[in-house]
Amino acid sequence: MSRFEADRIEKVKGALNTCTMCGFCKSVCPSFKAIGWDSALSRGRIALTYGLLNGDIEADGSVVENISTCTPCADCVRRCPSKVDIVGIIEMCRADLVKNGLMLPKHRSMAESVKKNGNPYGEKGPAADALGMKPHAADIGYFAGCTAAYRSKDTARAAMSILRKLGIDFTTVDEVCCGSVLQRIGVDEEEVVALMKRNVAAIGSLGVKTLVLSCAGCYRMFKIEYPKFVDVPFEVVHISEFLAKQDLKLSPLDGVITYHDPCHLGRHCGVYDAPREVINKFPGVNYREMEYNRAASHCCGGGGGVRAAYPEEAAKIASSRLDEAAFADTIVTTCPFCVTNLGSSKNDRRVKIADLVELVDSHLAI
Ligand code: SF4
Ligand code: SF4
Repeated sequence: MSRFEADRIEKVKGALNTCTMCGFCKSVCPSFKAIGWDSALSRGRIALTYGLLNGDIEADGSVVENISTCTPCADCVRRCPSKVDIVGIIEMCRADLVKNGLMLPKHRSMAESVKKNGNPYGEKGPAADALGMKPHAADIGYFAGCTAAYRSKDTARAAMSILRKLGIDFTTVDEVCCGSVLQRIGVDEEEVVALMKRNVAAIGSLGVKTLVLSCAGCYRMFKIEYPKFVDVPFEVVHISEFLAKQDLKLSPLDGVITYHDPCHLGRHCGVYDAPREVINKFPGVNYREMEYNRAASHCCGGGGGVRAAYPEEAAKIASSRLDEAAFADTIVTTCPFCVTNLGSSKNDRRVKIADLVELVDSHLAI
């Protein structure tokens, strides 16, 4: 077998050497909890990456699997006393695996679909058509993201309905995949940057001053990742931040409500207050936090291409998160992907799962 080329891993060599193998990450890693092996844990993945870098191990199927079952939730990064950039290491390792031709078939088909169709779901038409609204010049743009445009359409419909009810002149944008899925699964940076440029140009051509997003993954891309590679000439806000500043005339909610922080919105972007402020706008709301909340929130299990390639593991992680919300009637979140993955768990529990925008739209007076 030819030698494994580890040029991206080489860049995180310093971080690799900082891990003391203390095992603090073991108490939080969702994939470890679902799989049960140290190799599917932060420090195990660091050891595998180190082995690849030094040529001590072969990049076989088990290495690919253990590196690919990380949901990049970043809970280990929060927990790590040595502040190791674990997510950075794992994503560099994935990029080198892909570069060496080792890509999961499911991930390969998603990447090919993004290249061909502009979305990972194999959908042919533009997102704006799926959303039923042609783009036009406006100060406020709405970026639905592929999941809400093609799969969780209720989320996109609700977000657009709220904006209409608030009397806001907004536009859809001629969007393609934000690039999150490609960046997470290790696709070449050039392809991700091409999507960034394509989206920023399309949004800019409409004169958009504020881009509103309802997907936590897309929001992270525009807020954190895009500015590393391209100039972003508009404000980027998650819809929860936008709604927190609005005067919302809402009718009351029934039952006990709790909130699940999506990893992309919470730990990756630090947005914890805005969704809670919106929930608190419902008159007399009976709100209770889950034990693991805000920065310590547990992952839904679906991110980083895990749901696509390892649905059983993703559902297992979702199931354990739903168990933590057993006291609630409704678990609210702010990411269509979390709604979908939490919903994929064998859910014979009483708890309902809802995106915040759907809850707001169904209780918002015109
Ligand atoms: S907590 Fe940090 S230093 Fe400790 S084993 Fe995990 S990654 Fe390594
Ligand atoms: S990012 Fe999450 S899933 Fe990945 S190793 Fe860290 S704790 Fe585990």
